[in-house]
Amino acid sequence: MAQTARPLEVTSREGRFVSRVVRGMATSDGAGVKLTRLIGTPLLRRVDPFLMLDEFRSDEPSDYLAGFPSHPHRGFETFTYMLAGKFRHQDNKGNDGVLGAGGGQWMTAGRGIVHSEMPEQEEGLVWGFQLWINLPASEKMKPAGYRDLQPADIPTASLPGGVTARVVAGRVGDVVGPIDDARATEPVFVELQLPADAEVDLALPRGHEVFVYPFDGGVEVGDAEKAQALARGELAVLTNAGEERVRIKARGGEARALVIAGKPLREPIAQHGPFVMNTVDELRQAVEDFQDGKF
Ligand code: MN
Repeated sequence: MAQTARPLEVTSREGRFVSRVVRGMATSDGAGVKLTRLIGTPLLRRVDPFLMLDEFRSDEPSDYLAGFPSHPHRGFETFTYMLAGKFRHQDNKGNDGVLGAGGGQWMTAGRGIVHSEMPEQEEGLVWGFQLWINLPASEKMKPAGYRDLQPADIPTASLPGGVTARVVAGRVGDVVGPIDDARATEPVFVELQLPADAEVDLALPRGHEVFVYPFDGGVEVGDAEKAQALARGELAVLTNAGEERVRIKARGGEARALVIAGKPLREPIAQHGPFVMNTVDELRQAVEDFQDGKF
């Protein structure tokens, strides 16, 4: 469903620019799925409120077939976004579904969920992302929740120059993403698709932390005088000094990029694998509750 969007009105002239560029690190998780970790590494610990970003991309079945068998989460949210291939998820609340290309799943672990995420294919390309979004102290123990997004559930904003934006969370012009209920982190999750040399001036909430990740083709980020080139696979964290907008331009052909933003929580973080709380005592409690089958 395409809608014509007018860009949000921008009141500040100053644009955000790149403050930091990192490449991901090859690692594996689950029962041995090969992936690239972009956030959650020694190079880039976190981008508050984001705890982790993984990209998985392989057409080699041995890289993904083992999947992510049954495992717990507490204290945060995850968003899985699929570009190619299929995963089946099943959880201990009775949810069961398949995530396919162009769709995704927004999962609120809250006080606890136990689930599995397994490939629903034996060959072919699997390509997608998993983002972890922190919850504030006041919401870490809320009931688990869950939202499956089919491709048609994600609206597309048409912008000048043939640029399109798939809006999962937040808004681009008049187009509002399906993850729109009130969240302390006010997340923005947009996939930009830019024709060769096209550019966009994207409005973003003031005070949000923002990062841009070109996953297909390269881009240039920032106003002309401060622009920085990013190749595929380079993640840029942007400045956050009250600016409301960012310029992004395709570089060397067409490009696709994730633009992800969130309101920082600025709370202490105590993390042990898939448990993310505020204190070590709460972590201990999480492990105990999981072992006691209270998830
Ligand atoms: Mn999981």
